[in-house]
Amino acid sequence: MKERVGFMGLGIMGVPMAANIVAAGYSLTVYNRTPGKEESLRKKGARVASTPRALAQAADVIIAMVTGPEALNELLWGEDGAAAAFTGEKTFVNMSSVSPMFSRELARRLAPTGVAFVDAPVSGSKKPAENAALLILAGGPRDRVDALAPLFQTMGKRVVYCGEAGQGSMMKMMNNLLLGAMLEAFTESVQFGRTGGLSLESMLEVILSGPLSAPIFQMKVPMVKEGSYPPNFPLKHMTKDLKFVVDTAYETGAPVPIGHLLLHLFRLGVGQGLGDEDVAAIARVLENMAPGSGEVASSPSQ
Ligand code: NAP
Repeated sequence: MKERVGFMGLGIMGVPMAANIVAAGYSLTVYNRTPGKEESLRKKGARVASTPRALAQAADVIIAMVTGPEALNELLWGEDGAAAAFTGEKTFVNMSSVSPMFSRELARRLAPTGVAFVDAPVSGSKKPAENAALLILAGGPRDRVDALAPLFQTMGKRVVYCGEAGQGSMMKMMNNLLLGAMLEAFTESVQFGRTGGLSLESMLEVILSGPLSAPIFQMKVPMVKEGSYPPNFPLKHMTKDLKFVVDTAYETGAPVPIGHLLLHLFRLGVGQGLGDEDVAAIARVLENMAPGSGEVASSPSQ
């Protein structure tokens, strides 16, 4: 029999992920801090819990897909938090992007409740979430991850087992370091060409038809052409993840010189009010650094 699922966090990713779970025939209860975002899911048959604790009481598998550590702490241990209803019969799956250190600490803090803990962040943005085509990066007890496979397959096209709890988050940070570097390099190169008098069309023809092309560039081309960045993956979330990369690198001893530079550039973007734009708005940060742009490249407050 299918598990009863509880889903907390109905943002850009949470709404389509939860919609795919209910569409696959699971009994689903949802919760979001700000009411109103659950309406489309209610129409599809989901129940709505009034608190995280009520959601956890009504579910066998509780999923969280929220901004990061602060939101998770609030949902688990805040007023009417979900952790108070965790038992040895339940599983908690964190799909939000957090640091490996935070995931391991979460595993330790949850242990006394008896709940099975799986950290399972995702690779892929809004469209793959809508199309159930996410890549799920799972860490935790192998038998629990295997048992969750049918549920994960309602949201994703593939589950990659990464090791013990915390290693899903490690894989996610590795992947987002590469994503940040690729997007920065793409937009920096295009801007360099522009200042040297090349047309955008000719540069895109060269990049996209040659060996340096990548699907992520193709996805962001409409935004770069329009100079408009509606959020699929908000720039502020990438900034948070780069902070986790740098913190993790201090722990592991990994050299991440580009990671440090990226964190600085993305923080500048947040300071310039671009945090809620798509991550591809790193192009704007670079434009603002050009002499005569009028933007003061000061340190942001974040
Ligand atoms: P989002 O649209 O900004 O939604 C954030 C969610 O977190 C909302 O439901 C929000 O509730 C909730 N939240 C924030 N602070 C909270 C708090 N203190 N207490 C309770 N709930 C809180 O984010 P998203 O794009 O869906 O991303 C969710 C997670 O997935 C993040 O960790 C992100 O890094 C990761 N991710 C995102 C993408 C992407 O392309 N967007 C791709 C892969 C991974 P309210 O509605 O009340 O604000």
